[in-house]
Amino acid sequence: MADDSTTEARTAEQRPTPRQEAARLTAEGVHVIALTWVDNAGITRVKTVPTARLAAVAERGVGMSPIFDVYTCDDYITASPHVGGPDGDLRLIPDLRRLTVLAAQPGWAWAPVDRYGQDGTPYACCQRQFARRMAERAAEAGFEVRMGFETEWAVSRPAPDGAFDAACAGPAYGMTRIVELSDYVRAVAEALAAQGIEVHQIHPEYGAGQFEVSTAPADPVGAADEVVLVRETVRAVSARHGLRVTFAPVALAGEVGTGCHLHFSLGRNGRSLHRESGAPYGLDPAAVAFLGGVLDALPALSAVGAPSPASYLRLRPSQWAGAYRCWGVENREAALRLVRGVWDDPDGGNAEIKCVDAAANPYLLAGSVIAEGLNGVATGAKLPPPVVGDPGALSEAERRERAIDQLPSTLTEATDLFERQEVLRDAMGDVLHGALVAVRRAEAERSAGRAPEEVVAATRWRY
Ligand code: GLU
Ligand code: MG
Repeated sequence: MADDSTTEARTAEQRPTPRQEAARLTAEGVHVIALTWVDNAGITRVKTVPTARLAAVAERGVGMSPIFDVYTCDDYITASPHVGGPDGDLRLIPDLRRLTVLAAQPGWAWAPVDRYGQDGTPYACCQRQFARRMAERAAEAGFEVRMGFETEWAVSRPAPDGAFDAACAGPAYGMTRIVELSDYVRAVAEALAAQGIEVHQIHPEYGAGQFEVSTAPADPVGAADEVVLVRETVRAVSARHGLRVTFAPVALAGEVGTGCHLHFSLGRNGRSLHRESGAPYGLDPAAVAFLGGVLDALPALSAVGAPSPASYLRLRPSQWAGAYRCWGVENREAALRLVRGVWDDPDGGNAEIKCVDAAANPYLLAGSVIAEGLNGVATGAKLPPPVVGDPGALSEAERRERAIDQLPSTLTEATDLFERQEVLRDAMGDVLHGALVAVRRAEAERSAGRAPEEVVAATRWRY
C-alpha cells in the first residue's frame, strides 16, 4: 500500500523485500521495530512489532483503534462528530523506505506508518497521507516544495515532582554549554549521523538548558518523518545520559519558549523560485503568491502549528517566536521570515514559519502550509511591504495601519478561526478537520482557569 511519491523513493525493483529487510535487521541484532504516527494532539503514538513480523506487517499492517485521533496530549479522550467510542480498528502500514536502525536504542529500528481501514482504504484522519496529498497537489501545480523543521529542545536533570532543572548552566549560545555537555551533544550528533540524517548545525539556544539542531531539507512528508525521528533520537540519547528532554512549547513558565520552526522553499523545473534575478527579494511572482497565501492564513493555521494551551504562553511578542502576522527579510520577530541565504548559492533562499512549535503534528502542519500556499497562488495573494524591526515595538495604531495583527493569544481564539477556515476544511476533509477541532476544544477546556505555571507543568513532559 505504500506509494512512491517521495522524491527519494527507490524503484520497486531496487528495494529489498520486507523479508530481506527482516533478515538484514535480524543479522544486525535488531529485534524490535517501533512503528509510529503522530496524533492530532501532536503526540507520537506507537505500536512495536518483532522484526520477525515485519513481512506480515508490511503487507497487512498492525491494528490500532481510531480513538487516538481524539486523544488530548494528557491522554484524555474526547469525541468529534465522526470519531470516538470503542468501536473500529485501523491498520498501521509501515513505510519501509524510511526503515531506520535506531542508534541510541540498541536492538531497535523505526518506521513511520500510514493508516488504512481494514478494507485497505486510506483512513480519513491519516495525517501522513494528508501531507502526501498536499505535496502531490503542489507537484500537480508545478511546484517542487522542500521543507525542513528546526528542532529546539530543553534538557533537564531528573528532578522531583516533574520540575525542570536545566542540565547546563552556561549562557545562551555559549561554548560553556557545549563543554558542560560535551559527550551528550556529540552523542546526539553521532546518533543522527548514524541514522543517515544530514545535520546542518547544533547549537545551544537561548532558554535554560535549550539546544537546537537543524537538518537538511527534504520533501514535505520526508521532512515530517525526519523531525519525528530527530526528536525521538534526542530523547533516547538524553535518557542514555541520565537526562530528561522536553520539546514542549514552554519548559519554564515566564521564560522564552521552544519552537519548531518550519522552513520551506519552492522550486519549479529544478530552479529555485527564491532566486529570480531582478525580482524584489529574488521572489518569483508564484512564490510571492504562495507566501502571501501562507501569511494571510497564519491566524487560522495557529490551531495547527501552535496547538497546545502552552503554545500561547510561548507565542508572545519580543521572544523571537513570531507573534505578529507579518513578514520580514531575515526578521526574527516576523511570523514569516524570508531567509535570503548566501548570495552565490543557487539553492539558497527559503521562508521560515516561526510561530509554530513541536506540539504541532508535523504532517498536518506541512500539509496545511501547502494548502494555504496553493490557495494563495489560486487567488493571486500578495505580500505587503516587509516589516523591519520588532513589530511589537510599533504603536498599536502603526500596526493597525499596516495590518500587522497579533496572532491568536489563546487556543480557543485560534480554534474559532480554524473552524471557520474553508481552505483547511476542504483540504483535510470533515473527518480530520472535525477531530482536530474536538481535540483543540478539549485541550482548551482542560486548561481553562489554570495559571501559566500549571499549564506548563501539565504539558512539560508530554512532548
Ligand atoms: N526559541 C524561540 C522560539 O520560541 C526561537 C529562537 C530562534 O529564533 O531560533 O521559537
Ligand atoms: Mg532557534
